[in-house]
Amino acid sequence: MIVARKILGDLGRLRGRVRVALLVIYLVIPWLTWNGRPFVLLDIAHRKFYFPGAVFWPQEFYYLLLVVMSLGLSLFLFTSLFGRMWCGWACPQTVYTELFDTVARIVSPRFGKASQKNWEKIVVVTAWVLLSAFLTFHFISYFVGARTMLSELASAGPQLLSESVWPYFWIAITGLFYFDLGIFRHNFCVYLCPYARFQSVMLDRDSLVIAYDSHRGDPKRTRKIKPGDPAEKEFGDCTGCLKCVQVCPTGIDIRNGLQVACINCAHCVDACREEMASYEKETLVGYSSLRFFEERKEHRFVRPRTLIYGTALTAVVAVFGILLGNRLPLNLSVIRDRTVLPFVLNNQAQNVYEVDVANMREVSDALELEAELLEGQELVAGSIEARLGENPISVQANELRPVRVIVQAPVAENVVGRHNLRIRFKLRSESDPDLYVERESLFTIDAPEATPQS
Ligand code: SF4
Ligand code: SF4
Repeated sequence: MIVARKILGDLGRLRGRVRVALLVIYLVIPWLTWNGRPFVLLDIAHRKFYFPGAVFWPQEFYYLLLVVMSLGLSLFLFTSLFGRMWCGWACPQTVYTELFDTVARIVSPRFGKASQKNWEKIVVVTAWVLLSAFLTFHFISYFVGARTMLSELASAGPQLLSESVWPYFWIAITGLFYFDLGIFRHNFCVYLCPYARFQSVMLDRDSLVIAYDSHRGDPKRTRKIKPGDPAEKEFGDCTGCLKCVQVCPTGIDIRNGLQVACINCAHCVDACREEMASYEKETLVGYSSLRFFEERKEHRFVRPRTLIYGTALTAVVAVFGILLGNRLPLNLSVIRDRTVLPFVLNNQAQNVYEVDVANMREVSDALELEAELLEGQELVAGSIEARLGENPISVQANELRPVRVIVQAPVAENVVGRHNLRIRFKLRSESDPDLYVERESLFTIDAPEATPQS
C-alpha cells in the first residue's frame, strides 16, 4: 500500500474544495425528494428509473443509451482538451481514496509513517470499515432509496437479514469498498481502470497534461547549489529534491515523462512549486501541453479531433432533447396470449391478448382501449369488440397495469381456413383525448371447414 507524503499547496486546497462539493452531492442526492418521490432512484426491482422531472421505464432504454453515448463523447472531448483532469479531480475512486487518507490522518496523525504504532493502525482500520459502511449505504441507496433503507432498518433491525436482500449487498460492498479504498487504492487506476488504458489515444500534443519541463529542469542537480554559484550554469533548475516523487500517490516520477499511471492529481505540482519557491523560481512541473513543454508553442483548443468530438456530442444531445421534448407519457404493449389459441365458436372468432398499459404522468388517469382491424373487413360480418374487465382502465400516476383483453369478431358466411389479419390497438387518455398511443398485432380467424354430410 503506497501512502504518499502529504502536501498542501494552492491546487491541493482547490481540489479539497471540489472534493467536499462532490461528496456533498454524492451523499445528499439519495435523501432528496421531488414531487413526493425520490429525486434520483434506479429502482431495478420495479423497473423504474427516477430522475428529477421524470420517471423512465425499461421500454425507454434508448434514453439511457443516449445518456451513456453523450457521457462517453464528453469524456473523449474533455480528455482531448484537458487530459486526465477527471481522474485527478472528480473520479469517485480518487475522491474516496483521498477521503480515506484524510480520515486516517485525523484519527492517526502518524498515518503512513514508520513510527505509526499498531494500536493506531487498528484505529485507522476501524475508522475505514465504518466509513466504507457509510459510503456503501449511500451507494446502495441510489438503487433502493435512502429513506426506505433507514425505515426498514429502524423497524426490522437485525431481522431485516431474513426479510430483505439489500443488507447482504451492504455487507458485501462494504468489504469491497474497504479493500478497494483502504488496500488496493490507486492500484485500481494503474492496473484496472479501462479509462487509464485508452485515454492515451485521446491525448495529443495539444492536450492539457501535467508534465515536467525538461528544458528548464535538466540536467538535474546532483548537489545543493546556491543562487549565484558558477556551477548553476552546468545544471538545470531541478534540485533533485524528489518531493514530486514522494507526494505521488501512484509512486511514479513525473520527470520520466507522461505515464499511464499519472492520474493528474497535481500533488507533484504543489510539491515542485514549494521547492522552487525557495529559489524564487517558477515550478518545473505544471499543467500545460507537450507542445509547449517540448516546442515552446501555445497549445490549440480547436483541432480536428475536438471538432469531431464536439460535433458528435452536440448531435447526440440534440437527439436526446428532441426525443425528450416529444416524449409520450403513455405506453402500450400488446402480445398474444400464447396459452389460448385463436378459435371460432358460434361464428365468433376470438383472440386473447396480454396488454400492458402504462401511465407515465404524475397524475392518475382513465385510459380507454379500442381495437380495429386494418385489413380483411370482408372476412367479418360486423364490428370487432375488445372485452376487458374495466374500460376505461383506471391507472395511477406512474403505474403500469397488465390487463387481459379478449377480442371478438363475427365471422362472415362461408369463411374457412386460417387468416392472419393486422389489428390496431389504441390507448387514449380520457383527460386529454389528443393523447393516445397505438400498437399493431395480429388477429387470427381460424374457421374450420364444414364437415361434409354423408
Ligand atoms: S505524477 Fe503528479 S499528477 Fe501524476 S499521479 Fe503522480 S503526483 Fe499525481
Ligand atoms: S520537485 Fe521539482 S525540483 Fe524537486 S525533484 Fe521534482 S521536479 Fe525536481
